[in-house]
Amino acid sequence: MMATQLFINGQFTDPQQGKTLDVIDPATEQVFDQLAAATAEDVELAVNAARASFDSGVWQNQTAEQRGKVLRKVSELINERLDEIAALEVKDNGKPFPEAQWDVEDAAFCFTYYAELAEQMAASPDELIDVGDDRFSSKVVKDPVGVVGAIVPWNFPLLMAVWKVAPALAAGCSIVLKPSELCSLSCVELAKIIKEAGVPDGVFNLITGLGTEAGAPIAEHPLVDKLAFTGSVPTGSRIMAAAAKDIRTVSLELGGKSPFIIFDDCDIEKAVEWIMFGIFWNQGQVCSATSRVLVHEEIFESLMVRLCIEAEKITTGPGMEEGVLLGPLVSAGQYNKVLGFIADARAAGIEPVFGGERPAGLDTGYYLQPTIYADVPTDATIWKEEVFGPVVCVNKFASEEEAIALANDSEFGLGGAVMSDDLQRCDRVAKALKAGIIWVNCSQPTFAQAPWGGYKKSGIGRELGRWGIENYFETKQITAFNKDERWGWYIK
Ligand code: NAD
Repeated sequence: MMATQLFINGQFTDPQQGKTLDVIDPATEQVFDQLAAATAEDVELAVNAARASFDSGVWQNQTAEQRGKVLRKVSELINERLDEIAALEVKDNGKPFPEAQWDVEDAAFCFTYYAELAEQMAASPDELIDVGDDRFSSKVVKDPVGVVGAIVPWNFPLLMAVWKVAPALAAGCSIVLKPSELCSLSCVELAKIIKEAGVPDGVFNLITGLGTEAGAPIAEHPLVDKLAFTGSVPTGSRIMAAAAKDIRTVSLELGGKSPFIIFDDCDIEKAVEWIMFGIFWNQGQVCSATSRVLVHEEIFESLMVRLCIEAEKITTGPGMEEGVLLGPLVSAGQYNKVLGFIADARAAGIEPVFGGERPAGLDTGYYLQPTIYADVPTDATIWKEEVFGPVVCVNKFASEEEAIALANDSEFGLGGAVMSDDLQRCDRVAKALKAGIIWVNCSQPTFAQAPWGGYKKSGIGRELGRWGIENYFETKQITAFNKDERWGWYIK
């Protein structure tokens, strides 16, 4: 079995130490590929290549239109291979094929979106600043931040990478990307596409391998100007500490335990479907998953009955099978972690009202039934911590104030959702929730144009939209003294 390769300075290359990692299909638990496992020596080469390409100006000095043309080509090439890349994502990650197609389509769009945004920004006149002193004129310009170290997780392997790669390239930066060791194959394909599209050598580099061996050296490298990270809180904290050492900028997209408040005036059928989409989509391995549901006490019992009936109808199985809506979890490690949460809850006397077991007939693969808890103590681990699996806790509330207080009682603040026929109430609740992304009468859909990111331990900074590209710019003021006279401080 041929292993994948790293992509450094425009060349596909084997890791210096020749290390590889098994790539496992979570639906079969079988090894189907070998992943190149980089170490610090490879990171050194990749960062140096990125640095040299940035400093040479080969990419950053191109116009936004020139870069935009290349990025649109990347988008076109992704779209041409959409189903093939989506199928690879299914094999690597386990997610159902239609979800993978959606991810890949979004990834392609992201490149055209940022090509266009960068062109618009470049075309708009410099922002003039009124400094209140007519002897001076001042304007603001944007510079690409430099070499970006982008480290991403496995839950949306291609898309999470592209949320960083597309705006960083559009801004004129050079990049070293490290996807998760669990799911890197779609990023290997991205590297091929980026090469084919004509991104100059060294501007985009791909390092695959373990977090400690291939990720940490990127985070710690002094020639990396900016760290863009998506992943867990503990790793995010390490990344921030590494950035702090050399005062480098950092943006963090971390975990969540997002609440979904459902009032008694809403349609129970719609509520049930959005609850399910909010937690079972992508096997619940979604940072913004609405995993804490708060239902008004008037409709709690009837909603729970309908939720369990619908959860039972979800077809679980291999992601490529027609009609499957719940695939396996990504890995043995993640599967055991989620089972651990269920076992700990059980030890604390908390039993699911639905699920919690391996589905019948699926003896191989990291499969778990959709799992529903009701009336969970709010100090229970399963209520407070991110499970990152198809596991939802549903509690009841009596008043709007109580719902908001319960929703905000979390160390996370990534997402939140509210459902009610009363749109004024939705607006009130949306404003009161301490989170970066709020859904009204839905949960989860997101768009490349809108900002993405969290409050509290869910992160720092925003991706997507114009906020996403700002991550990859430095802001520079240019202030000029316009009077034909001496300054007169020292020399009169
Ligand atoms: P993780 O933190 O274990 O790993 C993320 C990435 O960091 C991987 O590429 C990993 O190899 C790398 N890494 C691990 N240790 C490292 C180290 N010491 N130095 C440098 N890099 C290191 O997270 P995960 O399990 O891959 O992903 C799941 C987490 O990601 C969840 O907490 C989820 O909520 C979060 N997430 C957040 C968002 C968001 O937008 N906020 C999106 C997706 C996932």
